[in-house]
Amino acid sequence: MRTREEAIRRAAELRELLWENSRLYYVDNSPAISDFEYDTLMRELEDIENEYPELVTPDSPTRKVGSDLETQGTGENAEKAVRRDFEQKAHRYPMLSLANTYSIDEIEEFSERADRLLEGTGFSYCCELKFDGTAICLTYRNGRLVQALTRGDGVMGDDVTENARRIGNIPLKLKGNYPEEFEIRGEILMPYEDFDRLNAEREENSEPPFANPRNAASGSLKLADPDEVAHRGLYCTLYHIPAQSLDFGTHDKALAAAASWGLPVSDKRKICRNIAEIKEYIDHWDTERRSLPYATDGIVIKINEMDAQRTLGYTAKSPRWAVAFKFKAEQACTVLESISYQVGRTGAVTPVANLTPVQLAGTVIRRATLNNADQMEVLDVRVGDRVFVEKGGEIIPKITGVDIENRPDGLEKPVFPEFCPDCGTGLVREEGVARHFCPNSEGCPQQLKGRLLHFMSRKAMNIIGGEALVDQLFSRGLARTPADLYDLSFRSLMTLEGWQERSCQRLLGSLQESRSASFEKVLFAIGIRFVGETTARALARHFGDIDSLMSADKESLVSVPDVGEIIAPSVMEFFASERNVREIERLRAAGLKFSVSVEDTALSAALDGRNIVVSGTFTISRDEIKELIVKHGGTNSSSISSRTSFLLAGVKPGPEKIRKCEQLGIRVVSEEEFFAMLPGQIPAIPKEILEPTLF
Ligand code: NAD
Repeated sequence: MRTREEAIRRAAELRELLWENSRLYYVDNSPAISDFEYDTLMRELEDIENEYPELVTPDSPTRKVGSDLETQGTGENAEKAVRRDFEQKAHRYPMLSLANTYSIDEIEEFSERADRLLEGTGFSYCCELKFDGTAICLTYRNGRLVQALTRGDGVMGDDVTENARRIGNIPLKLKGNYPEEFEIRGEILMPYEDFDRLNAEREENSEPPFANPRNAASGSLKLADPDEVAHRGLYCTLYHIPAQSLDFGTHDKALAAAASWGLPVSDKRKICRNIAEIKEYIDHWDTERRSLPYATDGIVIKINEMDAQRTLGYTAKSPRWAVAFKFKAEQACTVLESISYQVGRTGAVTPVANLTPVQLAGTVIRRATLNNADQMEVLDVRVGDRVFVEKGGEIIPKITGVDIENRPDGLEKPVFPEFCPDCGTGLVREEGVARHFCPNSEGCPQQLKGRLLHFMSRKAMNIIGGEALVDQLFSRGLARTPADLYDLSFRSLMTLEGWQERSCQRLLGSLQESRSASFEKVLFAIGIRFVGETTARALARHFGDIDSLMSADKESLVSVPDVGEIIAPSVMEFFASERNVREIERLRAAGLKFSVSVEDTALSAALDGRNIVVSGTFTISRDEIKELIVKHGGTNSSSISSRTSFLLAGVKPGPEKIRKCEQLGIRVVSEEEFFAMLPGQIPAIPKEILEPTLF
């Protein structure tokens, strides 16, 4: 038992800690502690407040929903391109949190309490996955999506309607027998595959990676540029129609109705009659969730009958008719065998832990990141230690702790190398930057190879080959820089070990094709630090050609969207280097595009990042439709999968495709809607009008 004075002091301390971490988590999308640690601190505060109710303050974190309102940000967001001035709108019904627990005993207590309070009403439970993303509230009026608000502080939310419209599986228009107006709530998620892709891009651009898919989804939903949102691969799943908005008798029936209107509702929910069935559901998903393409962090157990929900009501922070059982992040313990230091294409040096292989969340982990020298210092890690490995967001393995108590004698503190492990140049560390860099950008083999790989990558010049090819070309002295690639000849390639006529021709063909890549792709490919795909596009469109960009001053650079105090100097520094200018001249002489061409300007980014399947007949030919998709930044695909953004359905689309869309919650878009998405396109006009049948 603590004294009242101790309780007062600790409660104040805990509130401070919780507020600070809540801001880091919700607004900056850069959590500093694990969810479990956060929930443990919250529990401690709840216990103090239960013991000394007079210490409760109205703004205590135990009474308030964590706020994601952007105005509370510090600008230190992991995502620099977020918008901070979204219009804030009031929720019609408050958006609350959920009571949560990591203990199955407390789920039993929840069920016993429900039995007691709802005695004789014959209620059931609806068990669902707890999707680990960011909450959204959608409003449909006359079958059209009219508003999307984030949870905000539960009372007011950020209006992110334009961004939500660009999320592939959120229907803009409903089908079937939908009500005139209603609200539906759910979660915006970033599937693992898109999360990996995004973080790899961010690493390449020397941007901090997101800690987990939840933070990435939340940051992406708040981006200033809806086109970029479309590119992020966000996915929506809906799980709640407020009973005040529509009453279907049960929660399960409400969700079934929503699915029939074309809304993406998960089919993984299950009606359970008792605690035994709830436990079975929890056990099943505790393992099965690992095969899902997106993150879940627990199970939500809801009383299914809406009358019963009304009887139980709400606390200030959460409904009394629901509880979340949270899964603990999986951890494994293994031995740190050695530390290697990897040099990236920007020269950043990352320490990597080589581990005794260990099973974690279904995969064998051999390596984990130690991030940087500061992190190694904080962990106080030493080779030979037993270390704890977690998969951040269950994806990137990282070392989260060291078993210091059982440390064998004589282990020495690792010393961060002073010299580049690849070329031996002295490493530098800029003031305030956690990473060490190798400054030998012109001669360090790892950096040169990294830049070649980046230049050839699918999102840049899309030239076939990979690490093995780059290694071969580099070690034989055939290519050190991207411009060297365009000097490769059939004869020089044939000298490579294992190369035959066909492989040489394929590479030369791929190099030839890359000459038609747009200016924005070339700009991205040349690898200016901090210039990712989006910034490259913005710069290309703003300046029109490389010469204008090369002579741009800081003032004109910062007038481009998303270019600020970090990117502008980086662009100027890149073009100030004679070596870079020479390289650009060689690439220009090789025939690469260094200005926006007519076909590029005719493009829009309206379908950027969208993977579209076309089915049925249209008022124009199918080939023309497909060409339009590509011209507006989308890609065509022949079959429906979870990666499909929408099915573009003309007259008589394939029934199998429609069925698959329903199954996966993928939106079906009509020709008319499709044309409405494309800026400057004339909407499809019915054939009868174009070709009157009067004669
Ligand atoms: P929560 O994430 O624990 O649960 C509530 C949320 O779950 C809802 O708002 C909804 O968005 C979501 N949800 C997912 N699937 C659902 C479903 N099927 N039905 C209903 N809701 C569903 O609560 P929260 O208030 O969003 O966040 C609090 C939690 O966030 C804390 O318990 C903690 O774990 C984490 N957090 C962590 C830190 C940190 O520093 N690591 C900081 C703040 C909060």
